[in-house]
Amino acid sequence: DLYNKLIELKGNIRVFCRCRPLNAEEIAEGASTAIDFESAKDGELIVKGHVSSKKVFKFDSVFSPEEDQERVFEKTAPFATSVLDGFNVCIFAYGQTGTGKTFTMEGVEGARGVNYRTLEELFRIIKEREGIFLYDVTVSVLEVYNEQIHDLLLTGSQPGTTSKRLEVKQVAEGVHHVPGLVEARVTNMNEAWEVLQTGSKARVVGSTNANEHSSRSHCIHCVMVKGENMINGECTKSKLWLIDLAGSERVAKTDAQGERLREAQNINKSLSALGDVISALATKTPHIPFRHMIVVLNYRNSKLTHLLQDSLSIVSNAGGDSKTLMFVQISPNENDVGETLCSLNFASRVR
Ligand code: ADP
Ligand code: MG
Repeated sequence: DLYNKLIELKGNIRVFCRCRPLNAEEIAEGASTAIDFESAKDGELIVKGHVSSKKVFKFDSVFSPEEDQERVFEKTAPFATSVLDGFNVCIFAYGQTGTGKTFTMEGVEGARGVNYRTLEELFRIIKEREGIFLYDVTVSVLEVYNEQIHDLLLTGSQPGTTSKRLEVKQVAEGVHHVPGLVEARVTNMNEAWEVLQTGSKARVVGSTNANEHSSRSHCIHCVMVKGENMINGECTKSKLWLIDLAGSERVAKTDAQGERLREAQNINKSLSALGDVISALATKTPHIPFRHMIVVLNYRNSKLTHLLQDSLSIVSNAGGDSKTLMFVQISPNENDVGETLCSLNFASRVR
């Protein structure tokens, strides 16, 4: 029943915390580290207090700066299997700009991230299941900037422009679509990666300052999988969302005017809507009857949650059940401790 589904779903939300290493500049400046990883194996992360109060946070996994992309993916790989088993999966990277969101999701030359590895794992399992399951895979690349959805595979729809704005439409109870969104059919890893790269390039080309732009928009890769069990004819339909979120840093009031202020307000709006939705789903003691909770959760509070609605629902008519993984990215630098605490608090709320 619904109550049990709710309890079950709680187990479908995972929060991993990953801390980047101090960079060369910080080391040169003699920056000190505010984070303690002594009990990271138990999922604990300690923020050393300036005076007496140290703070302990608990996560499903904690990755210290020494842990590489392989280690991170060991814990992430099961989500690929879930997608092929019919679950909708959302993987997010959340955190202050410069903490490694893009490093974790996209990766860098020679150190591929979650996006690449998850796709590779998907196609590996598809091959393994050949003869039993038949899969159809399509990919889309989108961006949400200033509460506008842009299709990065559609030429002419560049970030910052108002043309070709996409909207989320409900086509049936619990089923949402983005009419006009390009869905590229791919049959292997190379094809899939090529499409995703095309999307990433469009993002850079369309912006005057690629770094600044990427820190203020949500970059979204969506992999849609249709599966057919060739033995019993059962069909599954699921989506994998890979999301490099906009930077979560608070913007000083004095810095923010005009366009910058609007950007900051829109980021804030979508990140808090996301936090509201996930934390409601993760509610440990659901006092509110489930049906009422649906009403409480207003996915339309932001484009991001609206877009992800079917994949962040407990009972989804669009496909299977959902699983969510959030990477909370942090800086080890003592100077960043204010933002770090904000990010860790956000993450504790959704867990
Ligand atoms: P964000 O996307 O959150 O703004 P980036 O992914 O761009 O942050 O990371 C900022 C810098 O730190 C980049 O140069 C990146 O390569 C580096 N970096 C981040 N995390 C790690 C890590 N775990 N190991 C090594 N370098 C990292
Ligand atoms: Mg980034």
